[in-house]
Amino acid sequence: MYMEKAKVLKPNGGYPLHTFEDIEDIYSTYISSKDDKAKIKEAYDFILEKHKGQLRRSGEPYYHHLVEVAYILAELHCGPKTIAAGFLHDVVEDTDVTIEDIKKRWGEEVAMIVDSLTKIQRLKLSKIDSEEFEAEDHRKIFLGMAKDIRVILIKLADRLHNMRTLEALSPERQLALSKETMDVFVPIAHRLGLDVIKSELEDLCLKYLQPVRYQEIVKLLSKKAKTMGRSLESLKKKIADILFQHNIPFDISSRVKSIYSIYRKMYIKGHPFDEIYDILALRIITQTEIQCYEILGLIHQSYKPVPGRFKDYIAMPKANMYQSLHTTVVGGDGNFYEVQIRTEEMDKIAETGVAAHWAYKEGNGYNSQKEQQEIENKLHWFRDFVSMSSTGNDGSAREYMDNLTHDIFDANVYVFTPKGKVIELPQGSTPVDFAYHIHTRVGDTCVGALVNGMMVPLNTVLKTGDLVEIKTNKNNAGPSEGWLEFVKSAAARSAIKKYVAKKNEAMIRDEKIAKGKQSCLDAFHDRGIEEEEMMNYLSDNKVLEHFGFETVDDLFVGVTGRKPVPSSIIEFLRIKKPVVVPTGGKVKTKSGDNCPVYCKGVGKIAIALASCCTPLPGDDIVGYVTKGKGIVVHRKNCPNVINEHQRLVDVYWKDDIEFATYPVDIMIEANDRNNLVVDIMSTLTAAKVTLSSLHARLVGNGLVDISATLMVSDAKRLNDVFNILRSISGVYEITRIVH
Ligand code: MN
Repeated sequence: MYMEKAKVLKPNGGYPLHTFEDIEDIYSTYISSKDDKAKIKEAYDFILEKHKGQLRRSGEPYYHHLVEVAYILAELHCGPKTIAAGFLHDVVEDTDVTIEDIKKRWGEEVAMIVDSLTKIQRLKLSKIDSEEFEAEDHRKIFLGMAKDIRVILIKLADRLHNMRTLEALSPERQLALSKETMDVFVPIAHRLGLDVIKSELEDLCLKYLQPVRYQEIVKLLSKKAKTMGRSLESLKKKIADILFQHNIPFDISSRVKSIYSIYRKMYIKGHPFDEIYDILALRIITQTEIQCYEILGLIHQSYKPVPGRFKDYIAMPKANMYQSLHTTVVGGDGNFYEVQIRTEEMDKIAETGVAAHWAYKEGNGYNSQKEQQEIENKLHWFRDFVSMSSTGNDGSAREYMDNLTHDIFDANVYVFTPKGKVIELPQGSTPVDFAYHIHTRVGDTCVGALVNGMMVPLNTVLKTGDLVEIKTNKNNAGPSEGWLEFVKSAAARSAIKKYVAKKNEAMIRDEKIAKGKQSCLDAFHDRGIEEEEMMNYLSDNKVLEHFGFETVDDLFVGVTGRKPVPSSIIEFLRIKKPVVVPTGGKVKTKSGDNCPVYCKGVGKIAIALASCCTPLPGDDIVGYVTKGKGIVVHRKNCPNVINEHQRLVDVYWKDDIEFATYPVDIMIEANDRNNLVVDIMSTLTAAKVTLSSLHARLVGNGLVDISATLMVSDAKRLNDVFNILRSISGVYEITRIVH
C-alpha cells in the first residue's frame, strides 16, 4: 500500500504554538530593564522580516522555530542577550544578514554567539557512515559550543525544538538526527544538569530509534498509571497529613519516570517492567536541608523503607550538581514507591542544572566572563571539557568521543579528602587515581594510602563515601608502570605514562652506560688493565673516531648492543700498544691428567680452560698458546681469541673424561615477577644442577637480567638445563656469557 501522500503534518509537531507575548510574559518576571526588553523585541521584529516567506519542512512559517527556541530559553530564565541570540540564531545562515549587521544592532556578544552557532550549523551532518567521520564532526560541534555556555544553551534549545518537530523529515534524517542527538546533545544536557531537556531529548530520540519499544512502554505506563494512580494519591495525602502535623512547609507532587529511563532499565539493565520501583515517584519540596532529613525520618517512621534504596545526594551531590534525598518505601497497598525530598533551590538545579546558576540576575549587569568563570568553577567538568576540546588533533576523534563518554557516564564514585572535600572519580578508581586528582605531584610521589584509616594496597577500588588519605615521599622513585594496569581516570593514566616514558628514556641510557662500562672493565681486567687506564684508552679521540662515537658514554651504550664488543676495542688498541695477553693466572686450571682436553704433538704442557668463555665438554674449542703459561682452551667462537690465528692450535676433548662438572656463566633475561628467582633456584635444584653464583639486576621496563654460574658436566647437559629454564614463566632468553 502506498502511504506517502497520506502523511499529515501537525504544525509545531503537535505541541502548542507560542507567541512573542508568551515569551514576554516569562522574561518580564525576571528582566525589567527597558533597554534589554527593547533589544529582545527588536530581535523578534528583525527575524519576522528577514525570514519572511521562508517555510519549514512541515510547511509552517520558519519563524515558528525561532519563537519556540526563544521560548525554551526564557523558560530556562536566560538573559536578554541569550534570548535575542536565540531569535537570531539562524538569520546569518539562512538570509543575507551578516555578523557585522548583528554586531551593529546587538553588540559584540550577541554577534559572537550567533557567529558560533552559524559555524556549528555549517557542519552538516556527515553523510559518510564511518564512525571516525561522525566522531570528528561531533568533536567540532563540541568545540564550537565550548566557547560560551550560552552557545550551548541555545544549541540545545534549537535541537530540542527540531526534535519535537522531527516528523516533517525523511525517515533517514529522523534516524540520523536522533542518533546524533543521543551521541552529542544528550550527554551535554545531562552533564550540565539540564534534566528537563535531557529527558525530553531522550524520549524523542527513542521514539525514532526504537519505535516499537517506545510504544510498548507508553502502553505499559498508561496501564500502570491507571492501577497505581489511586494508591499513589492516597499515599500522597497520608504523607501530607504527617508533614502538616509536624509544621514542616512542603509541596508534594508526583512524577512519572521518563520513557527512556524505563527503556534503559528494561532493555539495557534487563529488569522486567514490574520490578522497576520508581516508575511513579513522589517529590516533596521543602525549604531547608534540615527539613529534608526531618521529612525523611517521618516517612521512614510510617512506611517501611526498602533496603539499599536510600541515596543521600545532598551530602554527596552528583557530578552535575544534582542534590536530593531518595528513598523507596512500601506503601499501604504493598507496592513500592520512590520518594524524592529536596529544597526549592535543589529542585531548580535538578530541573535546569547549570541554567539555574546561569539564570539571569537583574542588577548584577551581565558579565559573561565572570559568569562563565563561575559556572566553570562549579562544574569542573566544563573546564575539563574546554581543555580537552582544545588539545587539537592529537589522538583520533574516536578516542576523544570515547574519553568523553567514559568520563561523563562512569564518573560516579565520590570519596572524601581528609578535610571532607568531595572528590568525584570514575567508577573503579583507586587511591592512585585519587592522588593524581589532587595533584600530579601527589600522584608522582604517592607511596601508600589510608582508606577510612586503614593502610590499603594502591590498587584498592574506592567506594563512594571512602575517606582517602595519600602518603607521599619526595624521594620516591616515581610512579610505577604497573599502576597503569589498575588506574581508571584519564588524568592519572596520562600522567603516569608521561612520567614513565620520560624516566625510561633517561634510565635506559644510564643503565646501558653502566652495563657497557662493566663489560669493558671485565674485558680489560682480564688483560690486566684496570679502570683508570681503560678510561684513558677509551677517551682517546682515535678510539672514539674509529668506532664512530662522540663520547665514551656513547661508546658504552654501543658496547651494550655488542657494537662493538669489548674485544674488538682491545683489538684496535693492540695496534698501538702490545697487549697483555691472558696470563692463565685467572683460569681455573685443570691441567695434567685431570684436564679433559688434549693437544696433539705436544708433550707435557699445561692445558687450562678459559674463564672468559667457560668451555664445556662437547663445545667446539681451540687452544691459545700463551707466553710461558701453556695452552688456554677457549670456545671456537670466543671473541677474545677469534683473530689470534698465529697463536691458535687444535685441541680435542678427551674421549674418556671422568665425570666432572665445570663452571659455566649464563645470562637469563626475564620479565620480573614475584618469586622469579626462587623459581629459578628451585628448578635448578630439582634438576640437580649446582648453582655457584647468582646475581639479579633490574634493568627497567619490568625486565630483569640474571647472571648465574652453574656447574655442568658438558654442553649437552647445559642444553637440557637451558630447556628446563626456558619453561619458567617470565624467562624469555638464556645465553652463555663471554667475558
Ligand atoms: Mn535553528
